[in-house]
Amino acid sequence: MASIAPKSFIGLRQASAEKPHFTIQAKPISLNPSIHRRLQVNAAKTSPKVTGRNLRVAVVGGGPAGGSAAETLAKGGIETFLIERKMDNCKPCGGAIPLCMVGEFDLPLDIIDRRVTKMKMISPSNVAVDIGQTLKPHEYIGMARREVLDQYLRNRASENGATVINGLFLKMEKPGDGEAPYVLHYTEYDGKVGGAGVKKNLEVDAVIGADGANSRVAKSIDAGDYEYAIAFQERIKIPDDKMVYYENLAEMYVGDDVSPDFYGWVFPQCDHVPVGTGTVTPQGNFKKFQLATRNRSKDKILGGKFLRVEAHPIPEHPRPRRLAGRVALVGDAAGYVTKCSGEGFYFAPKIIRMCAEPIVEGSENGKRMVNEADLRKYLEKWDKTYWPTYKVLDVLQKVFYRSNPAREAFVEMCADEYVQKMTFDSYLYKRVVPGNPWEDLKLAVNTIGSLVRANALRREMEKLNV
Ligand SMILES: Cc1cc2nc3c(=O)[nH]c(=O)nc-3n(C[C@H](O)[C@H](O)[C@H](O)COP(=O)(O)OP(=O)(O)OC[C@H]3O[C@@H](n4cnc5c(N)ncnc54)[C@H](O)[C@@H]3O)c2cc1C
Repeated sequence: MASIAPKSFIGLRQASAEKPHFTIQAKPISLNPSIHRRLQVNAAKTSPKVTGRNLRVAVVGGGPAGGSAAETLAKGGIETFLIERKMDNCKPCGGAIPLCMVGEFDLPLDIIDRRVTKMKMISPSNVAVDIGQTLKPHEYIGMARREVLDQYLRNRASENGATVINGLFLKMEKPGDGEAPYVLHYTEYDGKVGGAGVKKNLEVDAVIGADGANSRVAKSIDAGDYEYAIAFQERIKIPDDKMVYYENLAEMYVGDDVSPDFYGWVFPQCDHVPVGTGTVTPQGNFKKFQLATRNRSKDKILGGKFLRVEAHPIPEHPRPRRLAGRVALVGDAAGYVTKCSGEGFYFAPKIIRMCAEPIVEGSENGKRMVNEADLRKYLEKWDKTYWPTYKVLDVLQKVFYRSNPAREAFVEMCADEYVQKMTFDSYLYKRVVPGNPWEDLKLAVNTIGSLVRANALRREMEKLNV
């Protein structure tokens, strides 16, 4: 295949040395004090006291959601059990974490292998737009290895008093009456490779399902299914001189060739680059899409050696049911992955706090029984906080990822400094940044212009039967 060199984007609005005439009130990141103190609750409750022990909660799944849940619960005085089937699990993942996660979850900086400060957004016709010019010197997207991050969070949960079990959760017996325990069945492993494990039971008062996209806890409570994208990626070790290019740079490719409804990527990881793509389309032709992603980045990954090939579902929307009795789903198990970007890393632990804190509060630090109403507070908070963002990103994905002309328009928009600033600030700090009305108006006009051009282009392409 002929090599394809990305063209630079010229047009719309060029980067200039001119000072932006809007101000962004980026809150300085500070360590969340709640990490350092035990949650103290003095609410008056009528639920029965648990006697001779504290409230017992099992967290199934030791990814970012499960590790954070176990830590929050254990700190809050709950007798916590964290069940993880594979202690060295290296989940297929790009590994990109937003800056605010580092501060908010008090992550040590050595967990970050690489700091991405530049991104290239590459259109179907190979126009490349550089993103990142608006970043401040201390701002970056952190790249972490999942096996390192997940292990770190589980260890922290353990240091705070959680019992970490290397076990495969199998099924759950629901209580017959109000306050009876849930009985979890699992196979415990002793860490030896190839060991068959020992079947065990565990009685608990509440369960958090953080066992990812193929959640067995979700099945146990008939949570219903969600649509999902399948993400496919190859981890490729490229020669050192090629790695220099990806030192602090990530690439995103859009186009019918790489995915009919998502994007392709090359991200820098510790010592390699994951090259991947995803699609929601059933029976999507992964091989074809993956080959196209590899071909588009061909010159830059030439001479690379495959380390690992992997695929995993990414939920497209929350499950119909995320709570039943004293069982709540969180993270990918609940279906909390943002549209457009496919991110769940930050949201998994963030939302888990929303879920774990009401349990700590509702139980008065483990002294009382909790009920569905205590857990429901988390759903109400999630829906209020994230549902609007989820819907906006859903619409954006549908508008901009579905045809090549629309993707060209999307990349064109990304060249706009204002768009870059707003997008990066929203990504890094996970909050909607107040805009500038004049810039917003110009952006709206430009967006409409881009989409009109995109539609005109689509008609021309249809005429040509492309
Ligand atoms: C290819 C790909 C790239 C991605 N890139 C990014 C990215 O760059 N940034 C980002 O923010 N998000 C990314 N995501 C999404 C992100 O990986 C997930 O949203 C995130 O991992 C969700 O965390 P979680 O803890 O809910 O679930 P998971 O990380 O899936 O963790 C679930 C855990 O449960 C364990 N488990 C499962 N079943 C059982 C069982 N029966 N018993 C015991 N343990 C069990 C698993 O071993 C696992 O450790 C990506 C996803 C994919 C597929």
